[in-house]
Amino acid sequence: MSNGAFFNPEFETLSRSEIDALQLERLQATVRHCYEGSAFYHKRLDGIHVKPSDIRSLEDLRRIPFTTKQDLRDTYPWGIASIPASQCIRLHSSSGTTGNPTVILHSRQDIDQWANAVARCLWMVGCRPEDVFQNMSGYGMFTGGLGFQYGAEKLGMLTVPAAAGNTLRQLKFLTDFGTTVAHAIPSYASRLYEVMEERGIDPRRDLQLRTLVIGAEPHSEDTRRRIEQMLGVKAYNSFGMSEMMGPGVAFECPEQNGLHIWEDYFIVEIVDPVTLEPVPDGEVGELVLTTLNREAMPLLRYRTRDLTRILPGDCPCGRAHKRLDRMKGRSDDMIILKGVNIFPIQIETILMHFDELASDYLITLETLEDNDSMTVQVELKEMFIDDFTKLQALEKEITRQLRDEILITPRVRLVPKGTLPKSEGKAVRVQDLRKQY
Ligand code: ADP
Ligand code: ZN
Repeated sequence: MSNGAFFNPEFETLSRSEIDALQLERLQATVRHCYEGSAFYHKRLDGIHVKPSDIRSLEDLRRIPFTTKQDLRDTYPWGIASIPASQCIRLHSSSGTTGNPTVILHSRQDIDQWANAVARCLWMVGCRPEDVFQNMSGYGMFTGGLGFQYGAEKLGMLTVPAAAGNTLRQLKFLTDFGTTVAHAIPSYASRLYEVMEERGIDPRRDLQLRTLVIGAEPHSEDTRRRIEQMLGVKAYNSFGMSEMMGPGVAFECPEQNGLHIWEDYFIVEIVDPVTLEPVPDGEVGELVLTTLNREAMPLLRYRTRDLTRILPGDCPCGRAHKRLDRMKGRSDDMIILKGVNIFPIQIETILMHFDELASDYLITLETLEDNDSMTVQVELKEMFIDDFTKLQALEKEITRQLRDEILITPRVRLVPKGTLPKSEGKAVRVQDLRKQY
């Protein structure tokens, strides 16, 4: 049980060779479980003439084909599961940010393991039972709600299921309950601060908030620093996805330098999204995950479509679990404009360098006079709105820096704060209105 810096010392302090040994044992059990329990995987493995007993080393995992989001859709709702739905106690569905939703089943053991993973993450960044945890994430199908709820309760914190939105009520809870830790998506953390400003609330003076967990959507290092600055907190990056369970998959430690992925839960591979071959260590590619302790719906070599890399070197925190770099985005978020590949996060990184700008922006792609073009609208912090010359100079400078980064000259439009559309869930950063030829 928890002790000092570690919530699960027996797993968090494993050495590399101990991790490898545990992974092999769990991989063999998982492949056997899939083969025996899932008609889908039985057929897949028979199709390539691999029996569970053929998995003798971690390298043998590469003999197994990838599982894709399309496989989940084809077997909708739970044809890929390894136990009957009647033995499960919950299902979640991905929020469907990109296309049709997919369904994930959970057994009681899965829910317990998931809560343990989230508790481990929260403990790692200093949460203790005396803390008050306010979860500002959507509940319901979105795993950021119940996932953090169960994890925070497992750790023993007083947990406030505030759910998303209703910022004035959030602020009342933050003050009345003396919330010390909160979870929110990064775009909401910025919104929260704007409302505090409007109401004359100074988070350092009026709140006890110390730690913020931010995740579920890509955000840049500058955005994180901004959030920390505004709210006077330490903000930790949390990565998860419904297919793997939800939050708790990978999380930053106090070093804030990469997200430890729990290797007693998952095997990580990074592959070239085109050739599907492993990329050399330290290079960016698509994250592929194999679950090691899921009972209801284990997934083998699941292509997440998220792009990241494994950070080289050891982490001073003492955990040998590999570290993922901040997500670059999903392969399907990539904008291709005039043959150039661009990730929204590249644009965000530039924008967040400018103190004059607020946090919301929208990238619009459209066809004007038969030419594809990009417009970047970004909200201003109020105080700069009146000085026209200054605005023009600022637009020019932003355009120049964006062109240097993305090699295309976008149109930059500075707009007053509060003008861009806000969403309750993950922020929508790109709208594509281009003509399809
Ligand atoms: P959906 O796929 O519909 O958005 P999920 O809620 O399962 O549903 O979202 C998981 C996805 O959210 C991940 O695959 C990843 O693209 C994104 N995501 C989650 N956490 C982070 C994070 N910390 N940084 C960047 N992206 C993240
Ligand atoms: Zn660490």
